[in-house]
Amino acid sequence: MTRKFDGSRILIATHNAGKLDEMRQLFAPHSVEVVGAAELNLGEPEETEDTFVGNARIKARAAVDATGLPALADDSGIEVQALNDAPGVVTADWAETPHGRDFVMAMTKTHDMLEAISAPHPRRARFRATLVLAWPDGHEEIFDGRVNGTLVWPIRGTIGHGYDPMFQPDRYDVTFAEMDPAEKNRISHRADAFAKLIAGCFG
Ligand code: IMP
Repeated sequence: MTRKFDGSRILIATHNAGKLDEMRQLFAPHSVEVVGAAELNLGEPEETEDTFVGNARIKARAAVDATGLPALADDSGIEVQALNDAPGVVTADWAETPHGRDFVMAMTKTHDMLEAISAPHPRRARFRATLVLAWPDGHEEIFDGRVNGTLVWPIRGTIGHGYDPMFQPDRYDVTFAEMDPAEKNRISHRADAFAKLIAGCFG
């Protein structure tokens, strides 16, 4: 049985202003006060697990332990089928350089690896987002969102972030980086996970 959220405040365990904004909009109809981790000067724990749920749980639990508030955290990334679901939880790491993140480099690396093994087309991939809602008494609810698609090369589009220019969702002929952001936010892995969270805990 999914536990309903009946508190008046929820802590969003992210330092990403964009994600916090998205969450505020999501919770707007649900009369719950949304508090960001940065507002409470919380630290950012290290993401040491090798699953999305494991890392989302680390972030949610650290925020609960620091504040006593129920907390929501997410973890996301892209899984490429022909690469045994890599880069997955380490998606951001593939873009790391000494001068910050470079996703063109990460996408080029992904393409080169697919070429090296002559991966057949279409090259299937999916974005995943896992949400963990954790309560101070140790209870938690987990929601897994996904969107399936294919990888394109060369990359196309300039909107969005991360792997968006390489990912074309099923039933569309544009990549996430060519798509109206409102449309992407409607069909994305994160939207899927959010919808499940709202239906499960706030419905
Ligand atoms: P995190 O969930 O903030 O740890 O992000 C993981 C990484 O996955 C991000 O740095 C992005 O590169 C990638 N990622 C997650 N969601 C998306 C998306 O919607 N588009 C493109 N890349 C994404």
